[in-house]
Amino acid sequence: MSTSAGAGRTPLIAGNWKMHKTIAEAKGFIEALLPLVAATDRVDVGVCPPFPALKPTVDAARGSRVQVFAQNMHQEEHGAFTGEVSPPMLLELGVHGTIVGHSERRELFGETDRALAQKVPAALDAGLTPILCVGETEEERESGDTERKLRHQIQEDLARVPAERLGEVVIAYEPIWAIGTGLVATPEQAQEAIAFIRALVADRSREQAERTRVLYGGSVTAESCQELLALPDIDGALVGGASLDPESFATIVNATG
Ligand code: PEP
Repeated sequence: MSTSAGAGRTPLIAGNWKMHKTIAEAKGFIEALLPLVAATDRVDVGVCPPFPALKPTVDAARGSRVQVFAQNMHQEEHGAFTGEVSPPMLLELGVHGTIVGHSERRELFGETDRALAQKVPAALDAGLTPILCVGETEEERESGDTERKLRHQIQEDLARVPAERLGEVVIAYEPIWAIGTGLVATPEQAQEAIAFIRALVADRSREQAERTRVLYGGSVTAESCQELLALPDIDGALVGGASLDPESFATIVNATG
């Protein structure tokens, strides 16, 4: 089965490798992946290696349709921010964009909505595509706070993005209880949350909301992807564990395009 995103949006399947893959492993992955996804041209394909493997992955993927994204970025261009990497530094490597606001960075490394309100426009200004992650905890879902959480994150994190540029931001709805747990949101839960996110963007610009790609993330596998990716508002997936193996990642890409 193949699926397609709504309103002319090109779906994106992006693999978040987290803290996995050395340079040699990243190059090997791209070599193995390229022939497996060669037949699919209706879906954008992205991989998000750790920082040391970014440039080698960009080089290995050059001339192919595989886009390379970082997993994090600081909002300032330079300064006394030990351990951080700036937008121009990423741009120089030839990456396409960067994940921002992943729940692991929010929970384990204190990334705040206040910082994200600067990171998202900083990425756009540098010519990088931000993949902004949002999502509720299990506790928030159980207490009926999912929409409140999503509204807070979307409104705050996108506050400084000019309305006419909202469509350039990729949003990943990642319920935290589904990340790395093997628990996948039901199609109804994912569709409802993603339609809600799109409606929040539409509050600022109806036209841009139609352009904005909203992905699902959370234990997506080659098996679970088809039902989710067929839903009208879901424009692809951010994939963690199942993106580490070229075969399973390619199966998800090919099920989409
Ligand atoms: C992620 O880290 O963004 C993710 C969705 O991970 P997993 O697919 O392993 O749940």
